[in-house]
Amino acid sequence: MKALSLTELKNILRSLEDRYDVRAPIRLADGTRALGRLDEGELAVAGGRLPRKPTDVFFPQHDLIFTAPAEGAIESPAAPGKPLFVLGFTAEDLDCLEFIDRFFAAHYRDDLYFRLREGAVVGGVSGYCGEEGRMMRIAGDNCDLELVCDGERFIVAPRSAKGREIEGGIDCAVTDATLEELRQASDLLSDESRRILQKASELIRADRVPDDFWAEIGDLCIACTGCNLVCPTCTCYGVQDRSWRDRTERSRMWDSCQLDGFMREASGHNPLGTEALRSRRRIHHKLAADPTRWGHLTCYLCGRCDAACPTGIGIQSVARRIVSRFA
Ligand code: SF4
Ligand code: SF4
Repeated sequence: MKALSLTELKNILRSLEDRYDVRAPIRLADGTRALGRLDEGELAVAGGRLPRKPTDVFFPQHDLIFTAPAEGAIESPAAPGKPLFVLGFTAEDLDCLEFIDRFFAAHYRDDLYFRLREGAVVGGVSGYCGEEGRMMRIAGDNCDLELVCDGERFIVAPRSAKGREIEGGIDCAVTDATLEELRQASDLLSDESRRILQKASELIRADRVPDDFWAEIGDLCIACTGCNLVCPTCTCYGVQDRSWRDRTERSRMWDSCQLDGFMREASGHNPLGTEALRSRRRIHHKLAADPTRWGHLTCYLCGRCDAACPTGIGIQSVARRIVSRFA
């Protein structure tokens, strides 16, 4: 198989810039890792999941829907010049991406999302490149190309026709590197968190979680919205218009179900009028409502909301409390 050093990987990504708008994990000046262009910071593939959700390249926090000039026809946003090549999705991020691909295609097709998503190449990162070199689960599908780190090099594992085409064009020594050992190590990763989440879902759906539990969780929420903003499967947004003398722009921005105004009606009535109800809804949506609608949980345990929540009520933390108290 082909295996790349970090320098070789950077050169490959550089060579793809002719055809793609390349985004990869980089280190910003303040030391944090983020998806960015290669000129914006040093390539930083290792280090585990990125703090921000990588799906925001397809569903950005703020996205122009259309411009309405004072005179003339409504203008749609310009089509992207090149398709995206996005490296840096963990296996869990790829599960999330697979879900929002379906979400944005169901019932009506979301043109804004697919104008960026269609034609994009998605690259996963796994193996021994987690925090402090820890193993990250090997995805195996849901992407075009996966880079599996053996501790030193990145083994190139194509997962689609687009991925095979890119892998075919990589000019590097073919090594005797194999994925088998790495796959076995990946299979040994604990799925305890998944079991706890599933159990919490069953307890919520069986109505075994009382209102005073949600009041307790709600009391801890400071409505910072971090949990929603980092979640790759949160898809709620609001729409706003901004007008100038010569035009009006309509855009959409991510919303948060932890905000007081999330469902408040024009009459003033708010079906989610307390922190308890809003916190219940955030968890209930992914563990009870979505399983009814989609047939599965819509939390894939990317870990971001637990890392982001300043008061310790990310979804894994809440699920653990539910199981320890009500199972
Ligand atoms: S762990 Fe949190 S942020 Fe990640 S998918 Fe689940 S709910 Fe969303
Ligand atoms: S991150 Fe925590 S404190 Fe902030 S809105 Fe979400 S649940 Fe509330």
